[in-house]
Amino acid sequence: MMLAASLASGAGNRADFPTSVSQGALVIGTLPPGAHARYAGRDLSVTPDNHVVFGVGRDETGPIAVDIAERDGHHDRIEITVTPRDWPVERIEGVPPATVEPPPDIAERIKKEQARVVAARQRDDARDDFLETFAWPVEGRISGRFGSQRVYVVNGKDVPKSPHPGMDIAVPQGTPVKAPASGIVTFADAGLYLTGGTVLIDHGRGVSSNFLHMSRIDVKVGDHVEQGQVIGAVGMTGRATGPHLHWGMNWFDVRLDPLLLVEPPR
Ligand SMILES: [Zn+2]
Repeated sequence: MMLAASLASGAGNRADFPTSVSQGALVIGTLPPGAHARYAGRDLSVTPDNHVVFGVGRDETGPIAVDIAERDGHHDRIEITVTPRDWPVERIEGVPPATVEPPPDIAERIKKEQARVVAARQRDDARDDFLETFAWPVEGRISGRFGSQRVYVVNGKDVPKSPHPGMDIAVPQGTPVKAPASGIVTFADAGLYLTGGTVLIDHGRGVSSNFLHMSRIDVKVGDHVEQGQVIGAVGMTGRATGPHLHWGMNWFDVRLDPLLLVEPPR
């Protein structure tokens, strides 16, 4: 626990943030009552019990800083070190070539679909569902890790793509997908080109989760879901080589590692 050097505040009334975090981590801190905080150029919205949340990107090297303005006008800067991680390379064979190197009309469609997903991630709702301990949406073998450098093998040649933005869990087609925490459904579309059946759940203050390649979607935009509620079923729609759930987490547009939010798999 790192205490801000503030002589003005008494014990228990200080900012409390982790001293070090991992690349890809969701970070939750506590502010003194009435204080405000800024991180990465953004004013953090504060929960009724003085929590703030933000995400640390895969390529962030740190140290990062949270600027705090206390009620009495006192300013603090909290520095947090970022623990670097190793990002393995994953070579993937067997996806349809058009999903890796799409023709222009398909590329245009993908761009439009991704813009809708990006828009859904801009919400800053005054809800605090992200404070729940996240639960596994499905349980099974992790077949793809967050952050790995992806290389698709198409017609015998390597096509490097952006890092894997989430975690893949290999489970049979039709396995029920459960909401890892409560929230509001902000996106639900059965037919995106790359990601297939796609659902986004907003957990408040910019934190959202996404579930891709689903074979069935049981929720619609605007639905409130409870932690553990079934939102659909696992599939292999979009760019996928077999049935699996892709589970991604975001803080606004910063992609986070879901594995850092849940207990280790059984
Ligand atoms: Zn994936």
